[in-house]
Amino acid sequence: MILESQRQQVVERASDLATLTPGRTGNLSVRQDDAFAITPTGVPYDAFETVDVPVVGVDGEHRDGRMKPSSEVPMHSSIYRREDVGAIVHTHSPWSTALAVANQPLPPIHYMIVAVGKRVPVAEYATYGTDELAENIVTAMHEAESTAAFIENHGLVVTAADLETALENTRHVESLARLYLETRSAGLEPQTLADEQLDAVLEAFESYGQ
Ligand code: 13P
Ligand code: ZN
Repeated sequence: MILESQRQQVVERASDLATLTPGRTGNLSVRQDDAFAITPTGVPYDAFETVDVPVVGVDGEHRDGRMKPSSEVPMHSSIYRREDVGAIVHTHSPWSTALAVANQPLPPIHYMIVAVGKRVPVAEYATYGTDELAENIVTAMHEAESTAAFIENHGLVVTAADLETALENTRHVESLARLYLETRSAGLEPQTLADEQLDAVLEAFESYGQ
């Protein structure tokens, strides 16, 4: 079976999507070289197995798997063609999507933002599943030098070296979006960190952990 371990990861971690995004929305993928395994379209996240998981080339061609791939193949394939990343997670997580519907980027209100960059931009709206939307997302991430972007009136997309990190960073962005909105809901104005303060965090992160 081609991309067997990537397809297994899709099956195992699809249940994480259920905790991040409503219903059958959202999708995730894991890349190996010029192809990626991606969640099937419109299927509950506990209703498929490894042989069902679609394998798609970075050119967008369906190569294997019994089920039809996510409608957001253009988004995933465009990102993989342009960025050296190993996994992508797309959700309609509520706090991030609240900022997306208000067309509000997330400023650096907390040091954990550096997990994805110095801010989270908003990619311009286009119909889901289109090349136009894919282009808007790649452009927004590139311009903001961020591995995350909100999608106007739609949701959130996060890229990373591996699926574990992409899911973890999706949770970070969602919790920062919540923090930002809750601070503002309390009638308070969130402070932002300066560029040098964020650079210092990036440096400290190089030796963080065990
Ligand atoms: P799929 O079920 O086709 O992956 O679509 C979900 C979605 O979030 C589209 O943007
Ligand atoms: Zn979506």
